[in-house]
Amino acid sequence: MQDFYSTLSASEQTPSIFNKCYQTTKADKFRSLGIYPYFHVIEENEGPIVNINGKKIIMAGSNNYLGLTSHPKVKEAAIKAIEKYGTSCSGSRFLTGTLDLHLELESRLAAFMGRDAALIFSTGYQTSQGVIQPLVGRNDYILSDKENHASIVSATLITKGTGNSNLIRYKHNDMEDLELQLKKIPWEAGKMIVSDGVFSTFGNIVNLEKLHEIARRYHAQIILDDAHAFGVIGDKGRGTASQFGLSKEVDLTFCTFSKTLASIGGFVTGDARVIDFLKHESPAFMFSASPSPASTASALAALTILEQEPDRVSRLRYNTGIVRKELRRMGYEVPDGETAIVPIILYDTEKACLLWQGLFEEGIFVNMFIPPAVPEGKAMLRNSFMATHEESQLVRILYSYEIVGKKLGII
Ligand code: PMP
Repeated sequence: MQDFYSTLSASEQTPSIFNKCYQTTKADKFRSLGIYPYFHVIEENEGPIVNINGKKIIMAGSNNYLGLTSHPKVKEAAIKAIEKYGTSCSGSRFLTGTLDLHLELESRLAAFMGRDAALIFSTGYQTSQGVIQPLVGRNDYILSDKENHASIVSATLITKGTGNSNLIRYKHNDMEDLELQLKKIPWEAGKMIVSDGVFSTFGNIVNLEKLHEIARRYHAQIILDDAHAFGVIGDKGRGTASQFGLSKEVDLTFCTFSKTLASIGGFVTGDARVIDFLKHESPAFMFSASPSPASTASALAALTILEQEPDRVSRLRYNTGIVRKELRRMGYEVPDGETAIVPIILYDTEKACLLWQGLFEEGIFVNMFIPPAVPEGKAMLRNSFMATHEESQLVRILYSYEIVGKKLGII
């Protein structure tokens, strides 16, 4: 009989951390299906319309919620900032990387969110780490929703991995389970409840009213990630806490710049003392270069537009309302919702792949979520909309869903 090891390639025979790269990967499986929905190269981007392979495609999968990445004032602010400050701060905020622009953005964000202070970070992903890690100590507990964004998962695992804190993941948006878990924790322990405000896959909103009530009874602090809520829900887009009338009761809200704020970076808002503590104790803040002048200026310009044109928030809600209603009328399974994320539940992976492909051929770009990104049997397409989608573009998206869905026998 042939020795098992002789069937392996040379790279597989020798122990190496790279062996896994030469075996069949998840990416190979997608490619072998002939449907590879990732890394499509965008050659031009006007917001709702992008150019891919020289063809104009309607974008229905971006997080550019208010359509501000191509707004002339946002672009101009970025260009002017480069002219004045150059392309990089080349240092961390702590030492040589603090610009007057950073301080202006922090005070404007704090004022918009109705809080004492804000602190900005260089990405949204980093913001999770920068906020969660410094606040929990050896005897503290983190209670994290099971469907929180990957950035929160990794921030909580880092904290657990360093031996600081105890991590409990409660059932998704299940307040009974949250309370059950809290009951097991010693009364004197510090407790952080961390949740997405709007969950990034299905676009559903955290049950903040109940969560707040439980948190107060158990003396736990509430931290929300408002990546998909800021500019989308709440009074004039002020996010989840505002939506529930709990702006002062949520202890900290953090958020990325890469969605509504048309840039890259992130921020956290809350009480001045807590923000000052993070400023001096958060490794993700202290040991990383500060947001670039262009990123900071574009987020600032986007915030100004959000403040001056709150009708963009209503327009986004109107657009997603129409799409949700029409997709349901056609027979698609679309959960209730009021955010910019409109999921279509298909369950079957092959159906999701074929529908995605059919839509792409029709000139519509949406996001495909299939295992392992979602559990087995839970395949879906995730649409997300912009305030700047024109009615004709929404009609075109819906028309494509109707003809492709019918052709595939999905509706
Ligand atoms: N939190 C949530 C809920 C997100 O969806 C994302 C990005 N998709 C992030 C954090 C990370 O933000 P960024 O991409 O700016 O790093």
